[in-house]
Amino acid sequence: MRVVLVGPPGAGKGTQAQFVASHLSIPKISTGDIFRDNVSHGTALGRRAQAYMERGDLVPDEVTIAMVTDRLQDDDTQAGFLLDGFPRTVPQAETLKKMLSAWETRLDVVLELVVDDDEVVRRLSGRRTCRRCGRVWHALFDPPAHVDACDDCGGQLFQRDDDREQTIRHRLEVYQEQTSPLVAFYADEGILLGIDATGPVDEITERALSALRRFNR
Ligand code: ADP
Ligand code: AMP
Repeated sequence: MRVVLVGPPGAGKGTQAQFVASHLSIPKISTGDIFRDNVSHGTALGRRAQAYMERGDLVPDEVTIAMVTDRLQDDDTQAGFLLDGFPRTVPQAETLKKMLSAWETRLDVVLELVVDDDEVVRRLSGRRTCRRCGRVWHALFDPPAHVDACDDCGGQLFQRDDDREQTIRHRLEVYQEQTSPLVAFYADEGILLGIDATGPVDEITERALSALRRFNR
């Protein structure tokens, strides 16, 4: 199955992606994770992306599209994939559509996670991420047993540089301006499905999986 998760920063895309992708036995491809990995390893791609990410701006389309095009050609995507954080602009969505069509395939469903801005700010200001396995926690809503360590792998937790209140507000504006038009784009394609992304994580996973079942061709 070929799935895209869309929603504002903090909607829970990464959180749901890890459960949904593992349930469907498809790889989760998170552009934010790939960029952060490149930044922490000081690669040329990371050096290009870093300043945009710190400001809460989008990395330019040509850089992002080149990276995703490469990743989608890996063997593990044959049976499908779950994209978390891509596409984020209409040109990215158009390029993805053309790319898949050249490979004689297409997206099955775009799942929109719907939450309001106040909830996003509450979620992002408490977000903690594991440096080793990438698992996402929340200091209050989903706390690990020890403040600084990941329960899953023991890795060290960190707070993202772009999760400061001012940058969060800017990222929400960027979402409204550049990413929210994707909702209409995919509604026109007839593959958009919105779900309420508030409430306990496992209930949202169940909502997501039952929504996906309806689209599984
Ligand atoms: P996104 O990938 O959309 O930016 P994340 O999955 O990283 O969002 O989630 C942002 C923060 O919100 C994380 O700290 C996560 O633990 C927390 N979170 C995710 N889902 C929920 C939920 N249903 N209720 C409360 N907090 C949540
Ligand atoms: P995320 O982890 O999805 O919140 O992404 C973190 C940051 O990475 C974003 O604020 C952008 O700077 C960058 N990024 C991730 N995905 C994309 C994308 N599809 N297009 C442009 N920039 C992106």
